[in-house]
Amino acid sequence: MIDALPTEGVPAEQVLAELRGMRQADLPTHGGRLFAYVYDPARAGLDELAMSAYALSAHVNGLDPTAFPSLLATENALVAAAARVLGAGPGTSAPDVVGSVTSGGTESLILAVKTARDAHPEIANPRLVVPSTAHAAFAKAAHYLGVALDLVPVDPETFTPDPAAMSAAITADTVLVACSAPSYAHGVVDPVEQIAALAAERGVRCHVDACFGGWALPFLRRVGVSVPAFDFSVPGVTSVSVDLHKYAYTPKGVSVLLHRDANLRRPQYFAFAEWPGYTMINPVISSTRSGGPIAAAFATLRHLGDEGYLELARQTRDAVAGLAKAVSGVDGLRLLAPADYTVVCLASDDPGLDLFVLADELAARGWHTQPQLPYADLPASIHLTVTASVLPQVPQFGPDLAEAVFAARSQGPVQLPAELHALASSLPPDQLTPELVAALAQQFGLVGGDPGAAPRLAVVNAVLAAASPRLRERLLVEFVSLLQRPTW
Ligand SMILES: *Cc1c(COP(=O)(O)O)cnc(C)c1O
Repeated sequence: MIDALPTEGVPAEQVLAELRGMRQADLPTHGGRLFAYVYDPARAGLDELAMSAYALSAHVNGLDPTAFPSLLATENALVAAAARVLGAGPGTSAPDVVGSVTSGGTESLILAVKTARDAHPEIANPRLVVPSTAHAAFAKAAHYLGVALDLVPVDPETFTPDPAAMSAAITADTVLVACSAPSYAHGVVDPVEQIAALAAERGVRCHVDACFGGWALPFLRRVGVSVPAFDFSVPGVTSVSVDLHKYAYTPKGVSVLLHRDANLRRPQYFAFAEWPGYTMINPVISSTRSGGPIAAAFATLRHLGDEGYLELARQTRDAVAGLAKAVSGVDGLRLLAPADYTVVCLASDDPGLDLFVLADELAARGWHTQPQLPYADLPASIHLTVTASVLPQVPQFGPDLAEAVFAARSQGPVQLPAELHALASSLPPDQLTPELVAALAQQFGLVGGDPGAAPRLAVVNAVLAAASPRLRERLLVEFVSLLQRPTW
């Protein structure tokens, strides 16, 4: 095993060679064939620029903006850019917008919920209202912050909530109503205008989670895609989050949380002076934080520019249309939700075509998609996050999809052994033991197998699909805990 602390240090070239070797096992971050996790604009020279900028500021500490004015200046520039993209700033209906740079969408959402909660110290049992399609990070925020989560089911046809149902879920204890623009799973935009108006009527803050596509939608609109109002142009929207490490194509570790004004933002800050060290004053969750991702994001935005993002939006739009056409052309497959923006989400109406088997067959052909489990009355699906780099790959996708569908049909759906199906569908989550999960992981080839042989994830997904959400959570906690062990 590779030792992170050898007795004698290893030469730089060798360390890099070792890392390159380990990176071989990863999914491809570039090339437009991985439809989750990564966002690739396929712009020559952009990675090199971002990495140089990263290196310049990697050791800068965001703990104290007065000690490192470069970090403050770049953050303020990123916030201004995000505000402009999202309908705020001078000359708009939200001229007093302010914001913070965070490490990612989850942190932005945790802070949006914390800010709303702390604006109401008089509410003992604060609550958060979101559609059931809202990102899981809201559940995490609610869990961390002691806020109760009220999930409003979505319509199984449109995947959006009824604004009246959102309004009906608001109580005197509700500190925040949130919705997505667009949602991650299906890529649809919630009815922001109605939801924000109803929240405002009740005097409740309304957050728009535009983490995923908030940077894409405005540019898509400008290249002719019809996009409903979702940002600060909508009255009643009090905060908006947008991840720069998604459709702004920056390296990982940068999101922006915007508030309509500084008064709304104030409870976001944490300050503490009752200790003998420096008075701590933090806008975000981390205290020490690297200037690297922020400098890299600044360099990326400044180099691509407004026109660069317009061109990337055109390419994304055309790639989405191409993939959607390929899906619609295959018998037995359909688009689960309209592929209006940056997501292609497909479903199957053919009982002989198992989507999880299809995902494995696509992976075997070099297309890495994201299977989504059935949830409540929403069916299983395959999710594709589409970025600009996908466009040149589109012509090959149709034939490969047809082939993969043929192969998946020939294999037939996963048939779980009866006892495994019974276990998955009826085991009480608290009776799941680490030993049982270890045995399952071994059986499925997820641990200890030949690292070169791809495990048949369709079987794993079939087990998870048969399990309740609580059991899914427990299974995956035990599995990841099995993976995360020190290498001696
Ligand atoms: C990705 C995403 C998040 C969470 O962002 P991370 O950067 O992964 O923490 C939140 N909301 C939506 C809609 C997202 O797509």
